[in-house]
Amino acid sequence: MWLLLILALAAIVALNFWWARRLSTLESALDAQTRTLEDLKHEHEQVTLQKQAEQQALFNSMTEGVLVLDAHGRIQLVNQSLQRLFRLNKDVRGQTIMEVFRLPDLAEVIRRLQKERVISGFELELPGMEERWLQVNAAAVLDREGAQRGVILVFHELTRLRQLENTRQEFVANVSHELRTPLSLIKGFVETLLEGAKNDPELSTRFLNTIEKHTDRLTFLIEDLLTISRLESGGTVMNFQQVDLGEAVARAVDDLQSRAREKEVTIENSVPPGLVARADAERLHQVLCNLIENAIKYGRAQGRVAVGARAVAPDKIEGWIDDDGPGIPPEARERVFERFYRVDRARSRDTGGTGLGLSIVKHIIQAHGGEVWVKSELGAGATFFFTLPTAEKPIDQPQP
Ligand code: ADP
Repeated sequence: MWLLLILALAAIVALNFWWARRLSTLESALDAQTRTLEDLKHEHEQVTLQKQAEQQALFNSMTEGVLVLDAHGRIQLVNQSLQRLFRLNKDVRGQTIMEVFRLPDLAEVIRRLQKERVISGFELELPGMEERWLQVNAAAVLDREGAQRGVILVFHELTRLRQLENTRQEFVANVSHELRTPLSLIKGFVETLLEGAKNDPELSTRFLNTIEKHTDRLTFLIEDLLTISRLESGGTVMNFQQVDLGEAVARAVDDLQSRAREKEVTIENSVPPGLVARADAERLHQVLCNLIENAIKYGRAQGRVAVGARAVAPDKIEGWIDDDGPGIPPEARERVFERFYRVDRARSRDTGGTGLGLSIVKHIIQAHGGEVWVKSELGAGATFFFTLPTAEKPIDQPQP
């Protein structure tokens, strides 16, 4: 596909070269005719200008950056996308690519074209603070005799694709690591049991409990992975209804009461009555459970967790979950919503965490059209906020 595009563009440029040559031939052939040389020159200029304008308009309509060099390696044409890609703000026609771009890799592509004629899929890294990649497809522009009259290069932004690919690789590496850790622990304990520990009732109970804990962790991890995958692929259909936020919080607090008791944490639900959100009740339950459970897990033993909410606009509700634990360091506040990011890896694992909870929360809240963020002072607890749309009128239809 790229090859076809670049060859078509090279043909257009070659046609223009041909036109220019053809016109000058005509010019000399007609020299002896009745029309004056001045007329012919004028006509020639008009046709050439028109051809150039057509070519420029065609190239400017493309989302890819286009760069045309003449036979002497000087820039003859750049389109608007190329100016955007390279952040060029002046006319660069007539200059060489080394003068303008200072990219030896690009100069190498042009040198190679003398032999190879077409180069496709060359990946070019742009220097600078932020990582940027472009894909370059290039072709030599040939005249009818096969002599090289110039070069045409088409640039395509690759940065986003590269970033996605990096995220994918990182995700696969993280998942493998997260799966492998409990599996190798389970295997280790099973081996020790088989080697004789099974004959010691106290030891075997302890080992079997640990095995159970790690199998639970694997189950949670797989459940969370499936949830994330469904949310990201848009496979989760949201069933929006009117949900009373105070009642939803009460239900989540109820489910987490035994966890709170283990740590002697008190949970206060101070959501005022009558705050009705437009939400998927089950997904909202998941959000509230994740946030309240985190507040218990990462908060203080014998601490306090407060859940509140208020209407911040006629169509928007803001909710929060506040704890009095150690808080989150500034550099981690944005990152806690990333998949597998944990401030304290060991602590998260000990408490059965998968590192996916807040990422799931973010996806669900965004699917409701809301936002989620955290405020925290180190040593003075953390407050997670979220917004949800208000349910103004009864919602009859489940919405995608
Ligand atoms: P996990 O499964 O590790 O709990 P989450 O995505 O729910 O994964 O949370 C990511 C990380 O954010 C946690 O590992 C923890 O380090 C940090 N975190 C979340 N909630 C709190 C909180 N209330 N106080 C302090 N740290 C928190």
